[in-house]
Order: sequence, then structure tokens, then C-alpha cells
Amino acid sequence: MKVWNPAVDHQPAEVLVSATVDDVRAGLAKATAAGLGISVLGGGHDWLGRSVRHGGLVLDLSGMRTVTVSENIAVVGGGTRSLEVATIVEKAGGSVVAGTVGSVGVASFTTGGGYGYLNSLVGTGSDNLIAADVVLADGTLVHASEQEDSDLLWALRGGGGNFGVVTALHLRVHPLTTALTGMVAFSWDQAATVLRGFGEICAEAPDEFSARAGVVTLPGGPTVAYVAPAWMGNPADGEEWMGRVTRLGTPLIADLRIKPFSDVLREGEAMLAGNDHHHSMATRNIAALDPDVVAAIIEAAEARTSPASVIEIVQFHGAATRVPAEATAFAQRSPHFLIQLIGSWNPGDSAESQAWARDTSRKLAPYALPGGYPNVLGPDDKEQVAHAYGPNADRLLSLKRRYDPQSVFSASPLPY
Ligand SMILES: Cc1cc2nc3c(=O)[nH]c(=O)nc-3n(C[C@H](O)[C@H](O)[C@H](O)COP(=O)(O)OP(=O)(O)OC[C@H]3O[C@@H](n4cnc5c(N)ncnc54)[C@H](O)[C@@H]3O)c2cc1C
Repeated sequence: MKVWNPAVDHQPAEVLVSATVDDVRAGLAKATAAGLGISVLGGGHDWLGRSVRHGGLVLDLSGMRTVTVSENIAVVGGGTRSLEVATIVEKAGGSVVAGTVGSVGVASFTTGGGYGYLNSLVGTGSDNLIAADVVLADGTLVHASEQEDSDLLWALRGGGGNFGVVTALHLRVHPLTTALTGMVAFSWDQAATVLRGFGEICAEAPDEFSARAGVVTLPGGPTVAYVAPAWMGNPADGEEWMGRVTRLGTPLIADLRIKPFSDVLREGEAMLAGNDHHHSMATRNIAALDPDVVAAIIEAAEARTSPASVIEIVQFHGAATRVPAEATAFAQRSPHFLIQLIGSWNPGDSAESQAWARDTSRKLAPYALPGGYPNVLGPDDKEQVAHAYGPNADRLLSLKRRYDPQSVFSASPLPY
């Protein structure tokens, strides 16, 4: 079945589309009776295809795409995608924390951590999870909140969805619908200066500023170093910061405008359209973009075996870093840059193409913080997985034993 990464060729024994809690319960009972492993399909963006269990029963939550908003809380069905939520919440005058690609599933994005522009103002996606409805392996429906099953809520705030089927998320809505944002791209010969300068801007920026940067080859065009900043405060104050970004060099493209967050998700989605490359991903968290790190990134970009491969650098600072590491399962609280290495190749290309992301991750390891973003780590990243939950790993393990003692849900990279 088709998921984001065409390299995934898992063949499930059965796919059940679920629209209700009872559908989910029926699916779990059926899998148990047939002795089949289970997986839960949200937006299908896990690069390893962990939502489609080979030979197993897939609970496809595409029947649960619902959003209702009231009193600054959005209640979102477990299969809803980012753009669907953003569009409806925006009409109600607000935003939830989201990434930059519209088809990413909200449940896994949120329970895994959730990196997005709003992190610096209001925390991670998982910090903004107020409550969740979860069907456990035995079919029990649990409402995890600060008042009931608060341990489970703690675990779902960054520990992933491996405790049960999340059928609904209750997300905090913030009264902000637009940002001054867009993209500034520079020719490749300016890349080192631009990325070093980007690191300097990030080190000084207030919470209203949040940015991504990276290396991409434009369709049919040159390879560029880009910065995609967002200013989420008074637009007049943001001009200074946007000016600092455009003055990092001589831009080839400088397109910065006030736009709704839903447009950011639409544009991210459009960039993926028609892309049938196969992908392999790796990730590192880096504390600072110092000259050695920038040199390693430039070297990695030049070693890409395919122009479709991308390096993305996501700034993590501000409000999300002021939450204590043990307050929620998401433990990566020091300011950092999340580096996403997306290796892409045409089907049939050499094994060398497929190894680029992994090789690059190895080269960045000496500069990296321990751990990494669990939503992207894979089973081969044992060392990073071991550190990904920092001081929270033992508590997560004991909650896993309490809520899913038979390990029926085993798709995410939790260390069990
Ligand atoms: C193009 C692209 C852009 C991305 N951008 C960002 C970004 O900006 N910020 C960011 O933080 N991350 C980003 N990610 C990473 C993304 O958060 C993870 O890949 C996430 O797991 C995708 O969720 P999904 O529902 O789309 O995927 P799926 O493959 O459907 O699910 C991923 C995992 O979550 C489980 N799962 C899904 N839904 C549920 C549920 N309701 N209950 C229980 N378990 C569930 C699945 O079983 C599977 O193990 C991006 C990934 C891609 C490929």
C-alpha cells in the first residue's frame, strides 16, 4: 500500500479502515484472534513504513479525520492530517503547533514531539497536547489528561504513540493565524557564509523568530543554501530580523510575506508533489552551527549522490527549551538545531545513493548532542535511540509495561 516513502514495500495481511472507537476495538480483537501483529496508519509519513506492518493487520485511521474547535481547544481525530487541522482551526481564529508539510499525521507528529515554527513561542507539539483518547490493546478506552491517567498523558507528550491507538487528541489553540515568513535562497558559493550567519542570527533571536535552513537543489535549477524564517510577532518588528536574513549574502530568491500557517503547510505539500523518489532518513541534534559543523554540512551537501537529497536544519529555541526535561517524555530541551538528512534516489540507483544519509549522520556524530528526534530514528540508530529520551527512558519503559504489557504496539523507536 502507498505511503510517503515508495521504498517501503510492506505487504499487510489486512487493512481495516477505522472511523470509530468500536472499529478500532474490532480491529484489535480480530488481530488477536488471528495472531496477527498490529500497526496504526496515520498520515503514512514514517520513512520506515512502521505504520504498515508487513504481514500484519493495519488499522488505517483515515476514517477518523475530524476537527472541532471550542474554547481554545481543538479535538482532532486520530487519523487527521496537519493541513486539515490548520485549515479548520484557522477559520476559528487560531493555530495549533504543526510542521511544514500538510499531509503529516497530527497524532504521531504530536506524540513524537512535534517540531514547528510555533515551538519558540508556545512549546513543542507535545507540550500542547492537553488530553488524548487512547484505545489500549485490550480494547479499554482511556482518556489521558492531567486529572485522569496523567502518567499516560506524560508519556504521550513526546514518548510516541506506542501505548495504544490514539483516537482523539485535545490540542491547545493559540490566537495567531499568520506569520511573516517565506524563503530566501543563496547561490551555492555563498553557502558557508550564509549557514554560519544563520547560526549567529539564531543565537540572538527572540522567541518571536523561528527558522529553518538547509540545502536543496531547486527543480531544474541550481543547488542553493536557503533560510526559511518566520516572524510571529508584530510584523513591523520582524522587518529587522527578515532584513538580517536577506543580508546574509546576495539572494537569488527573497520571498517573505505575511501568510497564514495553513499556506506554509500547503506550500510544503506542493514541494513534495510528483516526487516518486525513494528515501532514507537520518537525524542529528547539534548545539551550535559553528564553523566545523557548517564545513561538515557543506561537505555532506557536495557528497550528495542525487540532487533530490536534502539537508534541513530546524532551529529549536525559546519556550520549548524552558520546559524541564522531565516534565514530559520529550527530553531534548536544550537549544539545538535538528538536522534532517533526507537521502533520495531513483528506484534502481546504486546502494551508494541509499547510504548517503547514514554516512552523513556518522560524519556529523562528533559534533552532535546525544540522542535525536525519535520520530525519525530507526532500528539501526541504537546509540541515538538509547539517549533519545534522556532521563525519561526508565519511566517510559515502566509505563509501557503498565499500558501495553504484551507490547502489541511496537512500531516506534522506543528502546523495547
Ligand atoms: C516530508 C516530511 C516532513 C516532515 N516534517 C516534520 C516537521 O516539520 N516536524 C516534525 O516534528 N516532524 C516532521 N516529520 C516527521 C513526522 O513527524 C513523523 O514521520 C511522523 O511519525 C509522521 O506521522 P504520520 O502519521 O504521517 O506517519 P505514519 O507513518 O502514519 O505513522 C508514524 C508512526 O506513528 C504511529 N501512529 C500514527 N498515528 C497513530 C495514532 N493515531 N495512534 C497511535 N499510533 C499512531 C504509526 O503506527 C507509526 O509508528 C516529517 C516527515 C516527513 C516525511
